[in-house]
Amino acid sequence: MSRLVLVLGDQLSMNLSALKAAQKTRDVVVMAEVRDEGTYVPHHPKKIALILTAMRKFAVQLRDDGWTVDYTTLDDPDNAGSIVGELLRRAEERGTSEVIATEPGEWRLIDKLRHAPLKVALHDDDRFIASHAMFEDWAEGRKALRMEYFYREMRRKTGLLMDGDDPAGGQWNFDHDNRKPAPDDIKTDGPLQFEPDKTTRAVLDLVASQFGDNFGDLEPFHFATDRQGALDALAHFVKHALARFGDYQDAMLDGEPYLYHAVLSPYMNIGLLSPLEVCEAVQDAYDAGDVPINAAEGFIRQIIGWREYVRGIYFLEGRDYTQRNVLGHKRDLPGFYWGTETKMRCVRQAVGQTRANAYAHHIQRLMVTGNFALLAGVDPAQVHEWYLSVYADAFEWVEAPNTVGMSQFADGGVIASKPYVSSGAYINRMSDHCKQCSYKVTRKTGEGACPFNLLYWDFLIRHRDRFEKNPRMGNMYGTWDRMDEDRRETVLSDAKRFLKRLDAGEVV
Ligand code: FAD
Repeated sequence: MSRLVLVLGDQLSMNLSALKAAQKTRDVVVMAEVRDEGTYVPHHPKKIALILTAMRKFAVQLRDDGWTVDYTTLDDPDNAGSIVGELLRRAEERGTSEVIATEPGEWRLIDKLRHAPLKVALHDDDRFIASHAMFEDWAEGRKALRMEYFYREMRRKTGLLMDGDDPAGGQWNFDHDNRKPAPDDIKTDGPLQFEPDKTTRAVLDLVASQFGDNFGDLEPFHFATDRQGALDALAHFVKHALARFGDYQDAMLDGEPYLYHAVLSPYMNIGLLSPLEVCEAVQDAYDAGDVPINAAEGFIRQIIGWREYVRGIYFLEGRDYTQRNVLGHKRDLPGFYWGTETKMRCVRQAVGQTRANAYAHHIQRLMVTGNFALLAGVDPAQVHEWYLSVYADAFEWVEAPNTVGMSQFADGGVIASKPYVSSGAYINRMSDHCKQCSYKVTRKTGEGACPFNLLYWDFLIRHRDRFEKNPRMGNMYGTWDRMDEDRRETVLSDAKRFLKRLDAGEVV
C-alpha cells in the first residue's frame, strides 16, 4: 500500500524529512493550494503568489526526480479547501490512510494534522540547525533565555567563524560596529530581481482574481520562485551587498527599501535555501577576504542566532504564546497600518514599502511600526495578525516571537530584557525621514511635536511599576524625574490628546 507524503508550501526542499522517510517508487506526494491556508489571515498578494508559484515549480522538480505527485490547484473544482480535507480526498483515491509529514511551523496546523482521522507520522523539521531537544536542553534551568548565549553554542556547533575553540576575530559579537546611520553615497542595486515566466504569470492572474482586495500590491512581482533563482539571489547578495551589511544594518533611508539587506528570508522560510548554505556562502566570502568580520559575523548571527533562537522560543513557549498580553494593551491597530493616511513620514515609508514589496527590513519592523504600536498600547494580537499578513517571509514560528515577544514585550520579557521603545531621536539618528516629516522631531511638546516623543514618555509612565526597577531603564526614569513638573504635565496631556485623535480616526 502506498503512503501519502505531505509537502506544505513552506517545505519546498528536496531533502525534506518527509521525503527522506518515503519511498519514491511506492509513495505519493500530496501538494495542495487550499483556501484555508490562503485566508486564515489576509496575506499580502505577493506572499501568496510567491508560495503558489514556488509550489508549482517544486512539484515539477519532484516529478522530474521520479516522484508521483498529486497536485491540487486553488481553482480545481474538487479542491477540498483545507490541508486535511485534501489529504482525506487523496487517501480515498489512493486507498490508503497513512501519511508521512514534516512538522509544520505553527501549532494551528500541527494540531490539525494530529487530530486528522488518518495515521500521520510527523517527522522533525531537520532543515533547522537546532532541534527541539537541543533548544530545550539549552534552555533547561536558565533564569533568562538570552539569544547571545544560545548563539555562542550555535557557533561552536556549526564551526562557523571559529578559530579552533575561539571566535574568529577574537570576539563573539561585533554589533557595536553595526549601528551606523545610512551613508550619503548609497550604492545599492537591491536584491536580484526576476521577471515572471509562464508559470508565475498564471499564478499572478489567479491571485489577482482571488485575493485582489487584500492589502498589498501584487505587481510588479520580482521574487525568485525556484531553487536556482534563490541561489542566484544569494550569490548576488554576497557579491554586491554583504560587505556593507554590518555597517548599515540599522539604517533607514527614504525611497531605499533594501539598503544592504539580503531579502533572503522568504527563500529560506519556504525551503528554497537552507540556512547553513547561506551562512557557508558568507563564511567563504569572509575567508576569501572579500567582506569584513563585522559584516560576516553580524549576518551569520541573524541566522544561526536569531532565526534559530526565535523558533526555539516559539515551540518552547507553547500554543498560547500568540495570545499573550502582559502589558494589557487594548487599542485597535490604527488604519494607517493598512494604508490609510498618516503624517508620520517614517511610518508612511515603512507601510508604503510593505504594501509595495511585502518587505520591510528589521529596523523598520522593530523601531518604526513595532515601536509605534507598543508606545500607543495596541492590542498585540492585532499587531501579530498584521505582521503575519503583510510580509512575504511571515510564518508563525518566526513572526510571532519577533512580534509578540521582541517587538511588543507581550510575553513579559522571555525574549527581550527590556522593551524596544524609543523616542523620535533614534529614528532621526538612523534615518533621513524626520527631515522631510510634517512633525518636528526636535519638538517634545506642543504643535507639531513628534508623536514618538510624546508617546515614549506616556508609555514609560503608564508602565512605571513594571519597568522602573529594570537596571537598563532606570536612567530613563531618572531623566523624567528631573524634568520640570509643568513640562511633565504637558507631555502627558499632549500624549493623551494625540491618542484621542488616533482613536477618533483623525489623520495623525
Ligand atoms: P537581513 O537583515 O538581510 O538578515 C539576514 C537574515 O537573518 C534574514 O533573512 C533572516 O532569515 C535572519 N533574521 C534576521 N533577523 C531575524 C530575526 N529577528 N528573527 C529571525 N530571523 C532573523 N523574519 C522572518 O523571517 N519572518 C517574519 O515574519 C518576521 N517578522 C518580524 C516581525 C517583527 C516585528 C520584527 C521586529 C522582525 C521580524 N522578522 C521576521 C525578522 C527580520 O525582520 C526579518 O528576518 C528580516 O527583515 C528579513 O529580511 P532580510 O532577509 O533582508 O534580512
